[in-house]
Amino acid sequence: MNRLDPRLSSLQHYVRDQAPALRAAALQLDAHPDGSTLYPQVPLLDRLATLQIPRPYAPDPLVIEGEEYYLLSAVERVIFHEEAAAHGDAALLLSAPGSLTAGMLVAALGDDTQQSMFFNRLREQPTWTFLAMTEPQGGSDAAALRTTLCPSPGGDGQLLNGSKCFIGNAHRSPLGVVTARTGPGPLGIRCLIVDASHPGCSAGPIATLGMRGALGTLDFQDVPVPEEHLLGRHLSPTRHGMWGWLHSFNPLRCVAAAMGVGLARAAHAYALEHAPHHHSALRHSLDALGTRIRGVQSLTRFAAHAVDADPTNAHLPSAAKTAAARLAVEATSTVLRLLGPGARIEHPLLDKWARDAFGIECMEGTSHIQAMAVFNALTRTGITLPRTS
Ligand SMILES: Cc1cc2nc3c(=O)[nH]c(=O)nc-3n(C[C@H](O)[C@H](O)[C@H](O)COP(=O)(O)OP(=O)(O)OC[C@H]3O[C@@H](n4cnc5c(N)ncnc54)[C@H](O)[C@@H]3O)c2cc1C
Repeated sequence: MNRLDPRLSSLQHYVRDQAPALRAAALQLDAHPDGSTLYPQVPLLDRLATLQIPRPYAPDPLVIEGEEYYLLSAVERVIFHEEAAAHGDAALLLSAPGSLTAGMLVAALGDDTQQSMFFNRLREQPTWTFLAMTEPQGGSDAAALRTTLCPSPGGDGQLLNGSKCFIGNAHRSPLGVVTARTGPGPLGIRCLIVDASHPGCSAGPIATLGMRGALGTLDFQDVPVPEEHLLGRHLSPTRHGMWGWLHSFNPLRCVAAAMGVGLARAAHAYALEHAPHHHSALRHSLDALGTRIRGVQSLTRFAAHAVDADPTNAHLPSAAKTAAARLAVEATSTVLRLLGPGARIEHPLLDKWARDAFGIECMEGTSHIQAMAVFNALTRTGITLPRTS
């Protein structure tokens, strides 16, 4: 599974060549998290901004050795993000312009007019977008959301009210997708395209320790939402809300896992370059870490293939995401320990990655939530877990 076919291997080499340019920008963003003008100038990120867009709206795919890449399959997204995190920087990827998360919802739930409106705007120039689900009261219980979409008193459309937090690029995006409640139960949850320039919509950055500059808050006060911005209006009531985003989670979890693997690879490679090699115990630690990285990498790629074959496959992405989140934290802390007591000061990039690694844990759901997804899938398919005693 760790060996790639020639097409994916070309993509991997392309990203590997371009990604080192991300590191200087990543350190700048870490030092000045509000530096939102950095990105369009960073080579790989300006390219990423016009990828992950469905083919009818993507005039400019990435072409490598005559092959076209749109980054629409989970496998292509995983290879791109893992390699860009391994040779560049995961946090910078997260705060880049483009349509990774919101675009996936619009592609899954939008009709032709909505897709054309959303994606055409993105292809005009590098544009940030957000996908806002998490709320201040708790993100894991996404079905318990409190943001509301209610008919306006004048009867001319609907009004959005509520707050969202920990939202990727909330503070720099002109548009995105928001989840809101129109009624009780899972069928009362809808996804809608929101234009963040409306006066009732306010956004701000959140100061974080890791993944600095990536996250923000959003507040909506009587924001009018035209009917044509309601995603899934052409789908049956069982498919137009929660169903759509649950299915988008599976490929997104593979991407989060890929970033975790890439982050661990970055730390491992950094240690190989900077740690003193004469200690056999140290060599042993790094060999063991390398073996573990290959294992989680293999699981992540396997999960991505499984999701491409069956988008409802939830347990493999969840298993990969859990393993990768833990790997990223342990790899960075192991390497910091191997480099000695002054490592955080002497190696700012490594210090940053160690802080960023904790962000992988919460992205697309914490490990507790992933464990429940794995457990549900195992019990549904009737697979029994081995007894431990
Ligand atoms: C880098 C980063 C990027 C993010 N990007 C986005 C984004 O673009 N859009 C967005 O909407 N959100 C985003 N998030 C938010 C993320 O999805 C939430 O942080 C996550 O869902 C957890 O929610 P919470 O922080 O509110 O914790 P809570 O949901 O309040 O959970 C707190 C703790 O309780 C545990 N817990 C909660 N419920 C259960 C349960 N039923 N059983 C067992 N344990 C439970 C959790 O595992 C966790 O440890 C991002 C977060 C990070 C760190």
